[in-house]
Amino acid sequence: MNGDRPIDVLVVGAGPAGVAAGIGARRAGAGRVVVLERDWDLGGILQQCIHPGFGLQTFKEELTGPEYMHRFVVQAHEAGVEFLANTMVFGMDPDGSVWTMNRDRGLEHLIPGATVLAMGCRERPLGAIRIPGSRPAGIYTAGTAQRFVNMEGQMPGNRAVILGSGDIGLIMARRMIWEGATVEGVYEVMPWAGGLRRNIAQCLDDYGIPFHLETTVTRVHGRDRLEGVTVAKVDGARAPVPGTERFVPCDTLLLAVGLIPENELSRGAGVELHPVTGGPVVNDLLQTSRPPVFAAGNAVIVYDLVDNVSDEGLRAGANAARYARGELPAPDRSIPVRGGENVRLFSPQFVTGASDVTVYLRVSRPFECPCRVFAEPGLFSQKLRYARPGEMNEVRLGADCIRALTDLKEIVVDVEAL
Ligand SMILES: Cc1cc2nc3c(=O)[nH]c(=O)nc-3n(C[C@H](O)[C@H](O)[C@H](O)COP(=O)(O)OP(=O)(O)OC[C@H]3O[C@@H](n4cnc5c(N)ncnc54)[C@H](O)[C@@H]3O)c2cc1C
Repeated sequence: MNGDRPIDVLVVGAGPAGVAAGIGARRAGAGRVVVLERDWDLGGILQQCIHPGFGLQTFKEELTGPEYMHRFVVQAHEAGVEFLANTMVFGMDPDGSVWTMNRDRGLEHLIPGATVLAMGCRERPLGAIRIPGSRPAGIYTAGTAQRFVNMEGQMPGNRAVILGSGDIGLIMARRMIWEGATVEGVYEVMPWAGGLRRNIAQCLDDYGIPFHLETTVTRVHGRDRLEGVTVAKVDGARAPVPGTERFVPCDTLLLAVGLIPENELSRGAGVELHPVTGGPVVNDLLQTSRPPVFAAGNAVIVYDLVDNVSDEGLRAGANAARYARGELPAPDRSIPVRGGENVRLFSPQFVTGASDVTVYLRVSRPFECPCRVFAEPGLFSQKLRYARPGEMNEVRLGADCIRALTDLKEIVVDVEAL
């Protein structure tokens, strides 16, 4: 690609965030926009999400993941976005230039006007939760199992236990039943579900799959193939309670124990990462601590809804295009956002007042009562029927209000019971 026309905006990853970033950049007037994807096809995680539930906000209809993605890919082609699949980005420099490897093109160093990071997230593996026992066949992350079943046509096993109640685990519990397997139960160490309430109802309750809170897997059994797991209740400190252990026979253990933004490239380029979200620290323009580098989607913070990811991708791409043209000056103000005591994580972490912005946040514990989500000083307040850690909340901040508060030092976002 070196020696070709210069690239104005380069996007890493062709999932919903990256494809939308490409569209956003072209619509904002960028000349050449290239999206790099390591996979052979476009669409990211949505390729394997063949269940409905995507696009309710964007298209006002319920689509499967591939249907939702197809609409965006068509728009991207119409907008003149170039895609380069089978291309692994394995390094990024602080100026946003990237190092790529493609079987046909070989090693390349691409130097764009601006870069958008849209690498998505990865699943936490078994090693991350330190369960004792050998490592027999039959233990998968839920997303890997989803890919096997939905894309490769392979069943991981016949009798499953799910550890963790993240959305992928819930969706896979139902999928295993649909494919004729038995699901012994879903075990969640926390006192509340990790995934969306609608997925608990539609994927577990509707199929009679037992759901055990404050319970975890303490040992895996089996030498060559998994033969069962020991589960135990946990106390308030999440330590197993002696005497509550129980053997559950199974040949498959699916792990849905958390997603982590994918950020090896960001780290390598010295982009500041947030210790709680695991993604880059960004402002309302989705600009990272390295000015030519922007970020969007699950690489920034793990979202529930793809509509929010696509919206963020469009904005990141448009701002990257403006930066590449020299039309995005360093902001006059950069007001830090701080999470109050009931907030576990949020994004963006800085607000410039250049545009209206939605701050996305997750609470640190469930509020099963009327409550309100708000931003101080007096910038936003909205009543809610409940707030749960598994479901993202939104704080909408108007640029006019922020600009009017000339001595604003910080914005605090929080949730409180009413
Ligand atoms: C199982 C599951 C079910 C879901 N169900 C719903 C639902 O019902 N409704 C809903 O609205 N949302 C749902 N979501 C959420 C939504 O799908 C995600 O939020 C969205 O896919 C995130 O998009 P993304 O572009 O940030 O990341 P991804 O889709 O993960 O895309 C990232 C892309 O970057 C590529 N990449 C990464 N690193 C590199 C590299 N170094 N070089 C080149 N390419 C790279 C990857 O190959 C991938 O294609 C679900 C998510 C999952 C996992």
